[in-house]
Amino acid sequence: MLRTWCQKAFPKALWVFHTNCGACNGCDIEIINVLTPYYDAERLGIKLVGSPRHADVLLVTGGVTRQVAPALKRLYEATPDPKLVIAIGSCAVGGNVWYDTYSILGGVDKVIPVDYYIPGCPPRPEAILHGVAVALGLAEKKVQGKVVQQQLLPEEPMEEAA
Ligand code: SF4
Repeated sequence: MLRTWCQKAFPKALWVFHTNCGACNGCDIEIINVLTPYYDAERLGIKLVGSPRHADVLLVTGGVTRQVAPALKRLYEATPDPKLVIAIGSCAVGGNVWYDTYSILGGVDKVIPVDYYIPGCPPRPEAILHGVAVALGLAEKKVQGKVVQQQLLPEEPMEEAA
């Protein structure tokens, strides 16, 4: 369904805006890798732009920090409709090792709606390209979506000092 919508909404080139919302830079380096000549995403019509106002797609990395969350919301609102949001890397997907820490909200979808998730720490450039190609309907999706919930363990009672 979403793929058909993507094909209608973005029949030609796709302009992407990349933002880091608290990533360690690992995912960002892989995104740059995808956009530079070795992987050459431009051959698929994917072009990096310098402003969200020109973008069709937001590529977001990092578990979102509390400090950056208001800016991410403004960035989302500044991007014209129709738009896609792709969370790239395990931090952006669900917080990764920073899940439930004081300064991280726990994933991009805690702040803005996300259409596609590309997990990995960091995801390989091939995985990023494949994820974007699936989103655009250029490649078939081969796995079934699944909802995974983290079970929190009950707290252990503190031992009293003898
Ligand atoms: S998913 Fe891994 S590589 Fe990407 S920002 Fe998080 S810690 Fe860094």
